[in-house]
Parts: sequence; structure tokens; C-alpha cells
Amino acid sequence: MPGFPGFVADVLDALASSGYAAFAVGGCVRDLLLGREPHDWDVATDATDREITDIFPRTAPTGVKYGTVTVIMPGGQVEVTTFRRDGAYLNARKPDSVEFVGDVREDLARRDLTVNAMAMDRQGSIIDPFGGREDLDRRLLRCVGDPERRFSEDALRMFRLLRFSAQLGFKCDGAALAAVKRLAPLAGRLSAERVRDELIKTLTSPAPEAAALMIEYGLLSGFMSENAKIIPWERLRAVPGDMRLPVFAILAGRAGAVESAETLLTALRCPAADRRLAREAAEIGPASDGLAIRLALATRSDRAVLVSAAADGHYVLARDLLNAGAFTRVRDLAVTGEDLKRLPAKAIGPTLRALALAVTAGKVPNSRRELLKLAYERSAGFPQS
Ligand code: ATP
Ligand code: MG
Repeated sequence: MPGFPGFVADVLDALASSGYAAFAVGGCVRDLLLGREPHDWDVATDATDREITDIFPRTAPTGVKYGTVTVIMPGGQVEVTTFRRDGAYLNARKPDSVEFVGDVREDLARRDLTVNAMAMDRQGSIIDPFGGREDLDRRLLRCVGDPERRFSEDALRMFRLLRFSAQLGFKCDGAALAAVKRLAPLAGRLSAERVRDELIKTLTSPAPEAAALMIEYGLLSGFMSENAKIIPWERLRAVPGDMRLPVFAILAGRAGAVESAETLLTALRCPAADRRLAREAAEIGPASDGLAIRLALATRSDRAVLVSAAADGHYVLARDLLNAGAFTRVRDLAVTGEDLKRLPAKAIGPTLRALALAVTAGKVPNSRRELLKLAYERSAGFPQS
């Protein structure tokens, strides 16, 4: 098993030499035990945020209300959090208050899944009060404690259960799934941003089809109808991660589960650039064969064409046509707007686009003479489409 990187070991050592207990906790322990590379490092300690700040020269107050300080080391950052127990939960969201406690075991008890509720000390010994190691071996996701109680405390845990099953390829415990089915309506109280982030993590995982369970169980019913069951998930798997959400939105639109891709992305509070991309891709319409894709590449943005083709199951074809440059854009034409000055001003843009399409389709060579002839024939009312 690989050990801690130097900067994490240094944080644990510095806390210990000041007399505090300190453990790596949560996702990084899970990932170390699985032989996966942790992407962030969490340390839990009995030092308070003030004490943590005093020990390390560079810190940032990330979430002082929850006792979290980001410690900035030369090799990387570590989130250091005071052992805590969550206070009363309001509306199945974040706890209203937290209570700082003296023991790592109590801190582990507030965590969502057994595989996420282990601590590791500096020497690599594991503290595992809930059987997380055995669940890792069985590849099983189980709640710490009673699933209904844990999901009622924080509805996001229902999403996390399904998201981790997609990311890790683990099965979900039956009692936990049954609790998701019963308590799915609580998801309506979560902010759109938190739901979006879990959905994106699921869609970009090796098993994006886990999002089908989110839909089926009603976790996404504030955003889409259950028609989305008919989404062709294998098309998503063929697409790079950063395009999966827009492709998913378009497929949901086509399945009639949302009004349009754009309305879904707006409801999920996605950035304007993503919403524009979805709108443009939806406008392109079915890109069902190589010619349709090449014509779209001639006049639309690369990403919109890739997204639209991906929704049709032609991502690889579109990517290859894009890389091969198998199309002619307006800027590649042997004529420019300047050459078409005799046309009415508002006809110039559409004419240039029509020429790019004609050249891409092989109907006319990309030569100045031929293009001028075609442009003026078109404007004289002899469209040559
Ligand atoms: P990753 O960072 O790979 O997505 P992670 O397990 O590190 O996975 P984080 O969201 O970074 O997940 O949270 C760190 C740890 O905090 C988790 O492993 C878990 O122990 C605990 N945790 C996070 N969110 C919750 C929650 N909603 N309810 C209970 N415990 C949680
Ligand atoms: Mg994490």
C-alpha cells in the first residue's frame, strides 16, 4: 500500500509534535486502501482552528464555522478539521451547528458511508469502527448507521451513495437503496448546485448510467421527468468527461424528460457558456451521417458539433472528421465578404455560409471564379443548393 506523500506526513508530524492527535480521514484513506490516487487530503485533529493556524506558517480559513483550516505546504494543500460531531440538521441539508469533540471515533460516526469513515495514523494503522475495510473488500457501499436516519439528516447522501457506486464500481447495500426510494422527495430541499455537482461526478465516472437510478428513484424529479429512462447511456460513455453533461441534457431533451437541454442546464445553474453550447448543439439537430456532420462543422462551433453528433452516437466519427479537416469554413473560402460587396449587406453573411456548405458538400470547387459565379447566381434568384 502506498503511504502518505511527504507534505501530508509533515502535517501529521507537526500536529503530533505539538501534542495533538492527528489522522488522515475519509476519502483519502479509502483511496489509499484501494490503491487509487487520492485527489484531496483531509486530516482530522483535536487541535482547534486557532491552534492549527498557530502551528503552520501558511493557512487559509476555509470553513471556520465547521472547524476547517486549509494548510498550505510546499508540496500541496491539506484540509485540517477539528474532530466534530454534527449538531441538529435543518431541512435535510447542512447541520445548523457543529460540536467539537475529543475523539476521532466520534468524528468518524458523522461520516456518510462506512468506506468513507476510516482514519489512518502517521504509521499507517487504520481506525475502522464501522467495518469499512470489509466493505471495501466486498466492494459494497453501506451507510454508517441507519440509512433512513442518515438520509433524513442530509439528503445529499442519497446522491453520494449512487455517485460513489458509479465512481468506484461498488454495489449499494439493499437497505440503503430501499431508503433512497422512500426518501427521494427530500432531495427537493437541496440546492441545485449541490445536485449538479453530484450529477456531473456521476456522468463523468466510468458508469454514467448510475444517473439512471437517480432519475428512476426520483432524486432528480425537481429537474426532469422519469421519461429519461430511455436515455441511451452507452453514447455518454463514448464521450470525454467535459462534454457529458451537455450531451446528457440533449438526450434528456430528446427523451421528452425536459423542455429543452438548455432549460435543464439553466435549472441546474450551469454556467452561461454551457447553456449556449447546449442551445447551439440542439439547433444543429440530428447529425446522422458523415455528410451532415461535415456540413455542421463548416458553419457551427467544433464543440457544438461534437456534442450534437455525440447525442446521435457519432462522437468518434465527428472527432475524426474534425481532426481530418474534412470541411471548408467561411474563413477558408477563396472569397471574402469584400468580394461580395455588390450584394445587399444583409445577404453577405448567409451567402458566405451557403458557399462554405456548397464547397464542403463538393458541389463547387473552392475557387474564386466559381464561388463568385455561384454567389451572384444565388442572389439573382437561382439558388444552387
Ligand atoms: P471525493 O473527494 O473523491 O469526491 P471524498 O470521500 O473525499 O470523495 P468529500 O466530499 O471530499 O468526499 O468528503 C470528504 C469526507 O467527508 C468523506 O469521505 C466523508 O467521510 C465526509 N463527508 C462528505 N460529505 C458528507 C456528507 N454529506 N455526509 C456525511 N459525511 C460526508
Ligand atoms: Mg475528497
